[in-house]
Amino acid sequence: MTLGEGGTPLVPAPALSERTGCEVWLKLEGANPTGSFKDRGMTVAVSAAMRDGAEAVVCASTGNTAASAAAYAARAGVRGAVIVPEGKIATGKLAQALMHGARVVALRGNFDQALELVLQLVDRNPIALVNSINPFRIEGQKTGAFEVCDQLGEAPDVLCVPVGNAGNVTAWWKGFREYDVAPRLHGYQAEGAAPLVRGAPVENPETVASAIRIGNPARWEEAMDAFTSSRGEVRAVSDEEILDAYSFLGEREGVFAEPASAAAVAGLLKYGAEGRVVCVLTGHGLKDPTTALSRAAPVMPCEPSIEQVERAMLGDG
Ligand SMILES: *Cc1c(COP(=O)(O)O)cnc(C)c1O
Repeated sequence: MTLGEGGTPLVPAPALSERTGCEVWLKLEGANPTGSFKDRGMTVAVSAAMRDGAEAVVCASTGNTAASAAAYAARAGVRGAVIVPEGKIATGKLAQALMHGARVVALRGNFDQALELVLQLVDRNPIALVNSINPFRIEGQKTGAFEVCDQLGEAPDVLCVPVGNAGNVTAWWKGFREYDVAPRLHGYQAEGAAPLVRGAPVENPETVASAIRIGNPARWEEAMDAFTSSRGEVRAVSDEEILDAYSFLGEREGVFAEPASAAAVAGLLKYGAEGRVVCVLTGHGLKDPTTALSRAAPVMPCEPSIEQVERAMLGDG
């Protein structure tokens, strides 16, 4: 069951390199078929579910898992059903899940509650859960680590990655270990949703970075092991720092990544690193047009005359 996921670009980041003094590269996971790294794991998880005769694939999601599960379920010709926190997922992700024909359930609760409920649901029905607690998701997602090593010709010194449910950082570490390399893993959580940094679950996680608005990560222990074993770190960045990095990526690097992805860059800018650094830009900026438009300069209205067009397009601000 494939849509051609993986094989995403790894591009140098000259502006970020200049600002940080590191050699910074960006892994553009937004170039996957549904616009996030989730596709790497979903291709394996849905293939396994089909093999095992599942009648439906389900997940709880902050958005991208839903978009990906819905697409692969459509491809597989099986029912997709996703449960998301009501009013809390980015517009593009919602549009994707609906367009792929999944049933979208809006829970009057948060992601952590959605995950708990969907765990009970799979106990009672012949359906496959494709959240990142599904081991096949990790097997697929670890391929990002293989690719980065192949693209650079060796492992980077540091990998910066946003952390939500912590499946991704777990997968990257597994991939690096299987390649027999050990870059430092720098994980970043949003301040309002930073259970791993605080060392305790967060009851009501809040952040503009909806993809990492998670208070009780499913892969807590494994993620902490990855940070420790790699001599890395897990730290918090504020929403303001995330949005600054989001704008910097768009305006200076020509890369439009969603806010959660920008957390990786915000962390690098805030805490620094050394050597060759890869930032994993987990999802495409188009996923969340609302945040982009609330952040960007307004459009300029203009009458159809050359003088006005010239002033509007080329004049001083
Ligand atoms: C899912 C997701 C994350 C977080 O990944 P986890 O495996 O939950 O830690 C980060 N950024 C984006 C864009 C995501 O979709």
